[in-house]
Amino acid sequence: MKIKVCGLRDKSNIKELMALPLDYVGFIFYSKSARYVGDDFDAEITKMIPLHIRKVGVFVNEAAEKILTLAKKYQLDVIQLHGDESPEDCQQIKDSGIEVFKAFQLNEDFQFERLEAYHKACDYFLFDTKSDSYGGSGEKFNWEILKKYKGETPFFLSGGIGIDDVEAVKAFQHSKLFGLDVNSGFERSPAVKNVVLVEEFLKSVRKKKMSNNKYAVNERGYYGQFGGAYIPELLRANVDELRENYLKIINSEKFQKDYKRLLDTYVGRPTPLTKVANLSKRFGTNIYLKREDLTHTGAHKINNTVGQILIAKYMGKTRIIAETGAGQHGVATATVCALFGLECIVYMGALDIERQAPNVARMKMLGAKVVPAISGNQTLKDATNEAIRDWIANPHSFYLIGSVVGPHPYPDMVTRLQSIISKEIREQLTKETGNPNPNYVIACVGGGSNAAGAFYHYLDEEDVKLVAVEASGLGVNSGETAATITIGDIGFIHGSKTMLMHDEDGQITEPYSISAGLDYPGVGPLHAHLAETGRAQFLSVTDQEALDAAMVLAQSEGIIPALESAHALAALEQMTFRKDDVVVVNLSGRGDKDMETYMKEINNL
Ligand SMILES: *Cc1c(COP(=O)(O)O)cnc(C)c1O
Repeated sequence: MKIKVCGLRDKSNIKELMALPLDYVGFIFYSKSARYVGDDFDAEITKMIPLHIRKVGVFVNEAAEKILTLAKKYQLDVIQLHGDESPEDCQQIKDSGIEVFKAFQLNEDFQFERLEAYHKACDYFLFDTKSDSYGGSGEKFNWEILKKYKGETPFFLSGGIGIDDVEAVKAFQHSKLFGLDVNSGFERSPAVKNVVLVEEFLKSVRKKKMSNNKYAVNERGYYGQFGGAYIPELLRANVDELRENYLKIINSEKFQKDYKRLLDTYVGRPTPLTKVANLSKRFGTNIYLKREDLTHTGAHKINNTVGQILIAKYMGKTRIIAETGAGQHGVATATVCALFGLECIVYMGALDIERQAPNVARMKMLGAKVVPAISGNQTLKDATNEAIRDWIANPHSFYLIGSVVGPHPYPDMVTRLQSIISKEIREQLTKETGNPNPNYVIACVGGGSNAAGAFYHYLDEEDVKLVAVEASGLGVNSGETAATITIGDIGFIHGSKTMLMHDEDGQITEPYSISAGLDYPGVGPLHAHLAETGRAQFLSVTDQEALDAAMVLAQSEGIIPALESAHALAALEQMTFRKDDVVVVNLSGRGDKDMETYMKEINNL
């Protein structure tokens, strides 16, 4: 991003500024301006400016002859025409071999078609705020209107930009944005700039977005010490096949197109970002909900199954295997299998089949075969074992995992498929507040897929605080809990090294939470890493706290959340916010599936 500091005059001030990494400096040759250089401006001043900083002379409706004379005297590299000059006026200057900037004053009514005639005659445009006096008003205009600018000439953004605009400037995206023009926003008095402030602005505007990928997975599937692929030898070929193909497929144009079309037209994306006024008031801050509850099937899980079914199809697989605990992932998988006409086998603990009759019925209605796992405790872990056994026996099948868990590449693949959540949050917040980054992103964590999706594009933005919320069930020390990070240890589960809950003999403990989706004894390796590095803060919420938060949301905003999402909402009660904080809570799903539990609560009231 090029930076132009305009409106200079004072010799010692210019000397100081020359030490900064500027690209352009501007001198105003318009006598009505408060920053007019004056009739007897010393030509020695412009001569002392190093050659790599380009000198711009600013003129308003001046005769070409006079402009060219002054350009020679002051060794100007660029002429900025800041009045009502015609394309012909610009061309005349350009023909003399000097670069031309043409300034335009914008407001909501600006006719961008006017610019057509100027493209050939100008090197750059400069978009300033409309005022009665040819600029210098110190006011900003609504940058959103530049969306209408589709021309090929690159432009400078101008008009009242100050030190407080760094974030907005960084958030503002336009393929033709070439530089920033600053002036009155950095002045001690007209034409005297605050050098320290300019220096700070340069530093922060140019500070590279930290994309050191500290939190990304490495080639071997590790997030720090966590992750990897700890699998039986017999599974090796299947997992390798997926690992070798998933990135190629996800990054292909065809996949991106198919995936986007399905997300838009089947899943119902983008999901809204709702500012919730009553909840905001309750917590004295600005709360936004990312509405995954409004997707087809009512939760974020569909983002992942839609993506994986495409990957399966591209890999030529015709039979899909999945396991499910409470049945939500089973339903999301059966849904996309029905859509693509693929055979679907869902393994489910026999006990879970009994407990989750509505989801079992849904899967069957969608055409899936639900196979009971009758070993062990007859719950999720046993269903997983059965699914893996099936995959070994049927390598032509695709094993569709429902969260950011399992052997590499599953955690990374599912994270990428769910990352649409934070991609949309960034776009929506930019529109809403001018800044893609909130102060907080809060999400519940079972295996961690909705949280991974909501965090993904913020992982390297360290000013965004990430908050992951686990279910502590009846309490972290009650023995009836699913707060893996809070009470767990390092271990191996589902083919990956991560944090999990186990007993003294190393046996994985049966987790407990009132919410079926959070009732998982491990957590994805990304989250183990985020916890270990401190990048994300992990909180835990009890059954009762989640129920209370669900009631609050229902009665203050008219939204009945899934019990899982209610955990994320309950975390708000444990936090303190500033008045101008922007807080995004990922509302992972809707509460219809939890009505039976909510009814018991209501009857107790
Ligand atoms: C399954 C589920 C969860 C938990 O899964 P993650 O992989 O941790 O996101 C959270 N919310 C809802 C609504 C779910 O259905």
